[in-house]
Amino acid sequence: MKKMKLVLVGNGPAGARTLEELLKLAPELYDITVFGADPQPEGHRLPGGPAGGPTAEETAASPFRQWCRDHDIVLHTGKKVVEVDRLRRIVRAADGTEAAYDRLLMCTGSLPFLLPVPGRDLEGVLAYHDSADTRAIHEAAETFRNAVVIGGGLPGLEVASGLLMRGMRVSVVHAANWLMDGQLDDVAGGLLRQALEARGMRFLMNARTQALVGDRYDGFGGRVKAVRFQDGGEVPADLVVMAVGIRPNVELARRMRLHCEHGIVVNDTLQTITDARIYAVGECAAHRGIAYGRAALDEQARVAANHLAQVGIGRYLGSPTSAQLKVTGIELFAVGDVMGGEGTETLVMSDPFSGVYKKLVLRGDKLVGACLYGDTGDGSWYLKLLRDSRGIGNIREQLMAGHDKVTAQPDDPSAQGRFAHASSHARLEQDGSCRITLPLADGHISSAQLRRIADVADRYALPAARIADDRSIELPGIGRADLEAVWHDLGLPPGQVCMEALRMAETCRSDD
Ligand SMILES: Cc1cc2nc3c(=O)[nH]c(=O)nc-3n(C[C@H](O)[C@H](O)[C@H](O)COP(=O)(O)OP(=O)(O)OC[C@H]3O[C@@H](n4cnc5c(N)ncnc54)[C@H](O)[C@@H]3O)c2cc1C
Repeated sequence: MKKMKLVLVGNGPAGARTLEELLKLAPELYDITVFGADPQPEGHRLPGGPAGGPTAEETAASPFRQWCRDHDIVLHTGKKVVEVDRLRRIVRAADGTEAAYDRLLMCTGSLPFLLPVPGRDLEGVLAYHDSADTRAIHEAAETFRNAVVIGGGLPGLEVASGLLMRGMRVSVVHAANWLMDGQLDDVAGGLLRQALEARGMRFLMNARTQALVGDRYDGFGGRVKAVRFQDGGEVPADLVVMAVGIRPNVELARRMRLHCEHGIVVNDTLQTITDARIYAVGECAAHRGIAYGRAALDEQARVAANHLAQVGIGRYLGSPTSAQLKVTGIELFAVGDVMGGEGTETLVMSDPFSGVYKKLVLRGDKLVGACLYGDTGDGSWYLKLLRDSRGIGNIREQLMAGHDKVTAQPDDPSAQGRFAHASSHARLEQDGSCRITLPLADGHISSAQLRRIADVADRYALPAARIADDRSIELPGIGRADLEAVWHDLGLPPGQVCMEALRMAETCRSDD
């Protein structure tokens, strides 16, 4: 069968993830061609970061480049697509390279926002966005002493830490009262500031940049030498990195006459609303009015790949955004609404001695926000509770204590009367049937657990339940074929079966 042609524009993580998912589902459906304006094959911002941009060898040896080779994908790096003929379905790069498509995937990402202040074109003023920026920052750090990072958000603090590690004197200029004010509350922002100050970083809070001053005699040209604020103050700088936000890169999309608002407007299958053959995923896409960052890439990629693979219709319904700082020794995680407000309830745990701060925001019986500083072990659990929008019902009291303290899951009907499964197991009897042993917490059994056992016994015609001792109860006579279903109905994940002869004493299953 003749393959269809898929062209991907943009060699960032969004495009790479979508292709990865697509090939899992339909490896033979498309001939695939990738165009990337960046010479680095993929994910250029994340590895290395400010501490070092990719070298030529790293670029050549990129796993994405090799992955493309392995899957017969044509990869054009350093080739910016400048034109798409939607009638003839042809993509054209700046150097004249062309590729025809049946489906087109737009993953053009975002562009850095630069403050519109005088002096932003001076030498030594950079954004922190792509591999060229990373390299330029790296080079400046070799030669110069004073760095100013404008923007105390996630990327700004990451680049500032990298520069500090490279021996520069670093000041961070932030327009708000506390760091990462879009993701953290004032307490966590304050703890973060203290930790970074202890490493030698300086902060200028509530500071409004008015101009960047050059080292030429009139202050308007040459290399940057200072940042001037609206209150007249100045801070010396021979490198200024602006990390004050991004905007979706819709330059090409607009030229193609795709409908763009904040980003390229897509529906729930990530198809552009203008042209059903064209999809947009990642930071360039606007879904229900929101252009998401990295947190949404995996989910968007899966839905787009599903549709491209023609295996059915998954729907993307939006994602909660989360933030995690990648600075060694600082553990920080935030997701959702961490400020709370009307109609919300806030749970706070603060331990100044161990430097742990935890804030959970609830609306009704749903977790809507979590802010963790110092101990982020439960971050992914809170993220999942929030993403699944699950009721926290009977775990409300233990929510703050964390995942380990909670055995029953909320809102799951099968959670009613669930047994702790750490030491439950099944044994294979001489006659070929199985016997499940259920542990009882402190010798107690709840009415819900009793009901569950009775239901299972009736459903699978089990002869009887047996009180084995004051700490466990046994269900014998389970047919081998029914075992999986019985585990399920007891609210336990399927486990291994142990031979009676082996006398496995404690546990035959691994904890999930
Ligand atoms: C400094 C910094 C640090 C970050 N740190 C983190 C972090 O720690 N954790 C995290 O989760 N997220 C982080 N992010 C965010 C994360 O990098 C982005 O969310 C992610 O890269 C978005 O992926 P994308 O593929 O949509 O866009 P991008 O990564 O922007 O990729 C888009 C690609 O498309 C290419 N392109 C654009 N136009 C064209 C064209 N016309 N033709 C061909 N190619 C084109 C671009 O060159 C680019 O390579 C960080 C971002 C920055 C700037």
